[in-house]
Amino acid sequence: AKQAATKSKAAPAKLSQKEKDHPPPPPEIVQEPPSSDRPNGTTYKTGHLLGKGGFAICYEGEQAGTKQRYALKIVKSHMPQKKMEQKFQTELQIHSKMRHANIVEFHRAFSFDKCTYIVLELCPNGSLMDMVKKRKYVTEPEVRFWTVQIAGAIKYMHARGIIHRDLKMGNIFLDKNMNVKVGDFGLAALLMTGKDWKDCRRTTLCGTPNYIAPEILSKDKGGHDHAVDIWSLGIIIFAMLTGKPPFQSATAEEIYRRAREREYDWPKLDTSENYISQETKDLVSELLQPPEQRPDPDAIVQHPFFTCGWLPQSEEMTPSLREKHPD
Ligand code: ADP
Repeated sequence: AKQAATKSKAAPAKLSQKEKDHPPPPPEIVQEPPSSDRPNGTTYKTGHLLGKGGFAICYEGEQAGTKQRYALKIVKSHMPQKKMEQKFQTELQIHSKMRHANIVEFHRAFSFDKCTYIVLELCPNGSLMDMVKKRKYVTEPEVRFWTVQIAGAIKYMHARGIIHRDLKMGNIFLDKNMNVKVGDFGLAALLMTGKDWKDCRRTTLCGTPNYIAPEILSKDKGGHDHAVDIWSLGIIIFAMLTGKPPFQSATAEEIYRRAREREYDWPKLDTSENYISQETKDLVSELLQPPEQRPDPDAIVQHPFFTCGWLPQSEEMTPSLREKHPD
């Protein structure tokens, strides 16, 4: 999801396709219609733009009365493309059932002025992607702290038969205390169990090239669908520490080839200031194994990576952690 481009003063005569897909900015006051739990309806005062996604715009919103701040994710009620409509329905259905400390909290959804509003927990520190862009890379202690939390969120989803399928730095947000919160359930799937589940498997190509597990690209059918999220975690850890995903290449085909062959290099110490331990490299190589060999979240957090160095406590996590505690 990209940040909003600054508007040019001379408004273009015609809207681009992207601008047509996105809803217009919301009015200053948004009124949620009355519901059984709130017979008088709820009013939100909209604040600044948080970001724009493929078809959603996200604004800060403050609930009248409580003054509680949220992220308001807004999409057009009638989306121009069927695929987007489907993505959004999936997101609503799956995200609304998730409740975990490291998953963006879904509060409610309602229609107002030809748009659908999702009221989400506000993550005021942006995404891991923003963080890594700003800092170039983050340190092993921070990665330990966030990986434990992401593994917890993955364990929770998988235990409920949900595969996220689009875990990446841009979909993992940071709350005010620098805890990670998994968001964007638009590509998530409900894993079917029982005798029919093989027929129900999702075969559509989904995800973002750099984070896609190789088995999604091959026709190879196995019973390890959920392991795609573990692969993505391996990519995320590498990308957080080095500033770029391991298979980054000029074309998607080249990324896929390198992912299949697991062809990646850790930056040499003389070209990177960030120290990367052998334990980190071992963990990433375990996560990037064939699906049936990838560890599950419980096994991941038992890895020596988490005990070979400092694992910060919550209160030690601040945006300037690196300055205070150089590794
Ligand atoms: P899409 O599903 O269309 O990709 P996103 O869910 O990525 O849309 O949201 C678009 C942008 O809005 C994100 O990149 C981020 O900048 C911002 N955003 C989304 N959810 C939140 C949130 N809960 N708190 C703060 N900002 C958010």
